Amino acid sequence: MFERFSLNLCVATMFVAAIAWHVSSSIAAEKSKPQWKAGVARVVITPEGSMWMAGYAGRDKPSEGKIHDLNAKALAVEDAEGNRLVIVTLDLIGVPRVMREWLEKEVGRQYKLPPEALLINASHTHCGPELRGNKTYVPADRFKQCIEYREALQKKLLDLVDRALGDLKPASLGYTHARAGFAMNRRTPTEKGVRNHPYPDGPVDHDVPVLEVKDPDGKLRAVLFGYACHSTTLGFYQFCGDYSGFATRYLEEAHPGMTALFMAGCGGDQNPYPRGKLELCQQHGRALANGVEAAFQTYERPLAGPLRMALDDAVLEFAAPPGREQLEKEAKSKNKYERRHAEILLAELKDKGKIHTTYPCPLQVVRFGKDLTLIALGGETVIAYSLRLKSELAPRAVWVAGYSNDVFGYLPSLRVLNEGGYEGGGATRYGSHPGPFAPSVEKLVMDKLHELLKKTQTPKSKEGKS
Ligand SMILES: [Zn+2]
Repeated sequence: MFERFSLNLCVATMFVAAIAWHVSSSIAAEKSKPQWKAGVARVVITPEGSMWMAGYAGRDKPSEGKIHDLNAKALAVEDAEGNRLVIVTLDLIGVPRVMREWLEKEVGRQYKLPPEALLINASHTHCGPELRGNKTYVPADRFKQCIEYREALQKKLLDLVDRALGDLKPASLGYTHARAGFAMNRRTPTEKGVRNHPYPDGPVDHDVPVLEVKDPDGKLRAVLFGYACHSTTLGFYQFCGDYSGFATRYLEEAHPGMTALFMAGCGGDQNPYPRGKLELCQQHGRALANGVEAAFQTYERPLAGPLRMALDDAVLEFAAPPGREQLEKEAKSKNKYERRHAEILLAELKDKGKIHTTYPCPLQVVRFGKDLTLIALGGETVIAYSLRLKSELAPRAVWVAGYSNDVFGYLPSLRVLNEGGYEGGGATRYGSHPGPFAPSVEKLVMDKLHELLKKTQTPKSKEGKS
């Protein structure tokens, strides 16, 4: 009896042990199962012929050749729940809203990718083609070419997203960061107001945020990195990705098989210094690549899911537009940019009976569980937004990108707006907006961002371990 009981006990113990082994091995398998899938793709987007270049109103002739190719790249990630995110980076001046809208619609229709799962960022290189439809400095005979380039680009980007999603395979994601020091504030206060000039006492953000994407065997497959600085080392007539074009090349040379993607930060009021020569551009590229390499040497923070994303517009208000009388006066100005700007607004007044008073600025929040919060703002975002968000959300790891989803012009902080100068409103004469934003601009952006941050909060039970 005892023996039999003992045998039964033994069998029972073995049974329990077998179940326990099964359960624990399932947990182990679950744990070792990669949390993510990732895919990458790239495409050359250098114009085939000569084009009007974007970024400097003073250029008086179209492009003449290239230093290197301009690229569009895509990184697709998918979490364990099947939520997907696609980040598209462009070696271009900006992201026209119409292009974003077209691509958003197509990826929604063809791949069921919701709008909040698509992030498009432009490096803001000033040595790329002009593809926006509202720039007063583009000669009339070159305008059609800009639109044709953009329409062809849209199709290339759709194919790029298709290939990145088709490339999804198991991966691990990690976040880390380091620094690079060549960005300097460019808003120097003078007796005659703010001047675009290197200002060592102005605010900067030298952070180099880094997202590492690795194969299950630990090999680096992709790196997405950022920096908050204008891509204005160069202003000549050859196509070039400026400092980030070099940084991505140096990183890809150092890590064969890895794709390097650059995402511009809030560098609206930051310039690379010194500037003006190709070798300086290469030096800044090397400095930024070194920042990423330094970040590689730190302990990275492994990212667990889930992905939580939100996208919405903050409807920004403009200051009261100039009246018809004023515009008619400006339309006779000796300054050709002022004249052209007034003509555009007078035409709007004629066609629509009024001048637009608001602009929808896209804002996007992507949370990688509790480990990393990525915030992407539209417009040429000034550094104050990056610093304010990082300080308000501390000690959370926060990555702030600017130049995302619609680069409509400058997005000033209240302080920059009040101080005036180029980023505060002076640049509007080169575009089609009526003038500077109203003082509500910063509050409207921050209120909307906090709304999106709240919307993307992960319930405690769903948070992954970091
Ligand atoms: Zn700019």
